[in-house]
Amino acid sequence: MKLKFWGVRGSIPSPGKDTVEYGGNTSCAEVRSARDNIYVIDAGTGVRELGNQLLKEGKKKINIFITHAHWDHIQGFPFFVPAYVPGHKIVMYSGNRKLAEDLIRQNKKADTKKIVKTLEELLPSNKNKQEDPLKTDMEGQMDVSGDKKYFPVQLSQMGADIYFKTLQLGETLETDDIIIKHTLQNHPGGACGYKFIEQERSLSCIWDMELKGYGAGKIEENDKYLINFIKNSDVLVVDAQYTADEYLGKKCMAKKGWGHSTHDGVCKLAAIAGIKKVIVFHHDPSHTDKDLSLMEKTTQEYAKALDEDLEVLFAKEMMEINI
Ligand SMILES: [Zn+2]
Ligand SMILES: [Zn+2]
Repeated sequence: MKLKFWGVRGSIPSPGKDTVEYGGNTSCAEVRSARDNIYVIDAGTGVRELGNQLLKEGKKKINIFITHAHWDHIQGFPFFVPAYVPGHKIVMYSGNRKLAEDLIRQNKKADTKKIVKTLEELLPSNKNKQEDPLKTDMEGQMDVSGDKKYFPVQLSQMGADIYFKTLQLGETLETDDIIIKHTLQNHPGGACGYKFIEQERSLSCIWDMELKGYGAGKIEENDKYLINFIKNSDVLVVDAQYTADEYLGKKCMAKKGWGHSTHDGVCKLAAIAGIKKVIVFHHDPSHTDKDLSLMEKTTQEYAKALDEDLEVLFAKEMMEINI
């Protein structure tokens, strides 16, 4: 499979002369299987450009996996042109985030019962009447009812067939070419991480996520469920919005509890989980190209000291990785 980044920024789009190299669009990544099927992760502002590309290619079926409904992960969807074109089929997935919070609080292992279903089997027949928490979130940002005037077009007026599916813990999807698992993460309001497995190769996409054991130096103990989920992935794309100093508030307001991890924290996580390739994602909007370039070098040196074979890259818009 191939991974391509269309938006790598967290929190808010940050265009400008200082973000040209890494990019200013918010979260959106594309996984393309060997059979050329499309799996999108998040619909931040980067999804607009991806939509234009998919239209050019004539792709009619698109799967979108939403990590959570914070603005930086959904605000590009109203500008995702394939969603307006009749004949397109868009399936949007999310996890049960309420359950996520309970699970994390209890630090219990998830129900490992494997339910394998094809995407087709999952689709409800009554798409227009379907109720789903993600649908409510997506409708909300386009709501024009009552006094609300958030967007000129409503979700129900988009021309494509759009389906929603909330994944339950332990539920595994199996398409004709990829297996998709999901996990639930430590983030305000909850967020889902996804793992894509194609034959023997695997990719874990873990954002937004704050390591629970980071400050106390207890990642191994406090982030067990996450470690088990990502273990031995060929590539880990992970939220690390802050430097250790920013997180701990050495020269600014501390970011502990804001739901994001640090550059050194995710290197430790990867080393514990036996991962050899990490891509740092969800860059802070205040970090310029110059800042990120310096942080990337520092993090690479830190990773090498932890594990000689641990490779770290900072995600850039349009960057492509073969997995
Ligand atoms: Zn975010
Ligand atoms: Zn978030």
